Amino acid sequence: MQLTIENVSKTYPNGTQALKDVSLTIPPGMFGLLGPNGAGKSTLMRTVATLQEPDTGSIHLGDIDVLADEHALRKRLGYLPQEVGVYDNVTAETLLDHFATLKGIDGRTKRREVVDALLDRVNLADARDQKLGGYSGGMKRRFGIAVALIGNPELIIVDEPTAGLDPAERVRFLNLLSEIGEDSVVILSTHIVADVRELCTQMAIIRAGEIIFEGEPQSAIADLDGQIWRKTVTKDTLPDHEAEFDVISTKLVAGRPVIHVHSAEQPHESFESVEPDLEDVYFTRMKDGAQPEPAPAVS
Ligand code: ADP
Repeated sequence: MQLTIENVSKTYPNGTQALKDVSLTIPPGMFGLLGPNGAGKSTLMRTVATLQEPDTGSIHLGDIDVLADEHALRKRLGYLPQEVGVYDNVTAETLLDHFATLKGIDGRTKRREVVDALLDRVNLADARDQKLGGYSGGMKRRFGIAVALIGNPELIIVDEPTAGLDPAERVRFLNLLSEIGEDSVVILSTHIVADVRELCTQMAIIRAGEIIFEGEPQSAIADLDGQIWRKTVTKDTLPDHEAEFDVISTKLVAGRPVIHVHSAEQPHESFESVEPDLEDVYFTRMKDGAQPEPAPAVS
């Protein structure tokens, strides 16, 4: 079962063109949809989840024509939106039971089994009687995953999953995501490169409504081998470097700007070569939107 998105476009009534002829083929496993805020990720995810309609294009989950048969899609969908609704005065167990009813899981005993298994799976069994208002951010995200997993969905969409989580909660949450069945299509929509690097075997980068890269993180990194150069500069000389070189990123390290430059050859003897990582891929693609020159073949 794979998800196929073909030529999907969407312009909002205010004229914002949020999706421009987006086509993507998403196989089972973890897929990272990476892009900055405003790139169109949520629009695309909401469209796939049948929460809004595109102007043109088609979407298929296996044989299901998603836009023609919303009901069939929703039965197979687990959707974890950016903001999990606030039901502060309800316990996790009660709310999960309620959502299981909505998902069509009939029979109290059956539902109880499903709810127990899900609470165990997301490590919230001990907190089942606590009201959600008392949950930490990480617990709320894990609860959201439990909701998304009701009924063994074949398509799972997770929108900006780690935003606002502290590092320990983030690791726990990412581990949980990585345990989700390899048979399902799991789409992780995020602006955080590290989330994709740590979890996804396939990815796409979206910028201003357009897919500018689709492929494997590892091969995208390998394509940049020997083309990323680093230099520690001063704040005063940073603008000159930006004018002269293809600076893809600047980070402050111990208060000094460290730049990464994309170049097929050493830009200047003051630069040292660094191993590319997924951030370099992301910033390179975001900057030019075009495929970089593949690294020369080593014979
Ligand atoms: P992302 O999830 O990548 O941050 P969105 O899909 O939320 O991106 O937004 C894509 C673009 O569409 C942005 O320019 C955003 O301002 C605009 N947009 C999103 N939702 C609406 C809406 N309901 N009406 C008008 N413009 C919208």
